[in-house]
Amino acid sequence: MSAAKSPPARRRRVAVLGATGAVGQAFIRLLADHPWFELTELAASERSAGKSYADAVRWIGGDAMPAKVRGMTVQPCDPNNISAEIVFSALDSTAAQDAEPAFAHAGKVVLTNAKNYRMDPDVPLVIAEINPSHLSVLEAQRRNRGWSGAIVANGNCASIVAALPLAPIHERFGIANVFAVTMQAVSGAGYPGVPSLDILGNVIPFIKDEEPKIETEIQKFLGTVEADTIRSAPFGVSAHANRVAVEHGHTVCMSIALETRADARDVERAIAEWRGADAAHGLPSAPDRPVLVADEPDHPQPRRHVGAGKGMTVVVGRVRSDPILDVKLVAMGHNIVRGAAGASVLNAELMVHCGALAGS
Ligand code: NAP
Repeated sequence: MSAAKSPPARRRRVAVLGATGAVGQAFIRLLADHPWFELTELAASERSAGKSYADAVRWIGGDAMPAKVRGMTVQPCDPNNISAEIVFSALDSTAAQDAEPAFAHAGKVVLTNAKNYRMDPDVPLVIAEINPSHLSVLEAQRRNRGWSGAIVANGNCASIVAALPLAPIHERFGIANVFAVTMQAVSGAGYPGVPSLDILGNVIPFIKDEEPKIETEIQKFLGTVEADTIRSAPFGVSAHANRVAVEHGHTVCMSIALETRADARDVERAIAEWRGADAAHGLPSAPDRPVLVADEPDHPQPRRHVGAGKGMTVVVGRVRSDPILDVKLVAMGHNIVRGAAGASVLNAELMVHCGALAGS
């Protein structure tokens, strides 16, 4: 177990944009009693603004809404209404397009879950255990865009689940190509998401705009910083994205071609030994193990493993040789925690720890 990182000298004020949605609610659970952050404001659309949070939200999940947010007034997504220096965005992409740059221009550090700016070469797309060094492009981002704040992106939920076990494989053996098939939970579509009559007892072999994200983001996570921009790793990814009748937890089956020869046991060992970047160890939201290799032949399974590492651990199983490519495996992770809100909170902790916030 890693030693806990020392807390910052002061708690940082944080806000959540899109606080009423599925990801926004996950942020509230994670931030209500956070040791480094103080949740000061919640914002959502004009439909919700002005109401108490308890009146604006349809709270999903079996747990109680944290008492401290019930009476908070939902703000419009306007930087003039937000005093927090760190802003977690769970906005849908239509709202994120203009709102997120407006917050960055107002000096806020925006940690976004929306797709809009993920692939811009001066926007770090960060998984704290994989590529914390990509935060170094923020200086160029601030220069290029003329703002004092920042936009730091999370990946798509399936891309994050896939990238975590691929990171040690790429580090150790080099990846030549990846073929990925996803089975994605309904909570990945937000609330209310997919109609129940479409998904119960069914598989939908289409998720709008999902495959291109998986086919580009993984290479950016595993890329390098060159001359103030991020250069994606030069391998190919082919993805098939499917929606399945699972509540939480995306499963990704992957076949992988390697640059250097290795058998399935070598690959399994590389994944099992990997602990990720030192900078992430001991941060409040970092799990002990970002990736865990399951022992049983029929694991991982969303129902059994979605809570591993409080939702921050990706569980891998069935690492075996592939008759066409080199190795194949199954990875499963919590789409709303590791794939969205938990990943953003961990990135914010990383930024506080590394002094990467504006003015810190
Ligand atoms: P959701 O449940 O549909 O929530 C959307 C949120 O955006 C709500 O708070 C909504 O507020 C707000 N919003 C909508 N239109 C707005 C507007 N014009 N101005 C201001 N706020 C507006 O969606 P979600 O699943 O939480 O996803 C949020 C973001 O995270 C999306 O960009 C999604 O692609 C991304 N993401 C989701 C997952 C996942 O597993 N669900 C994983 C990774 C990334 P009102 O309630 O007031 O309408």
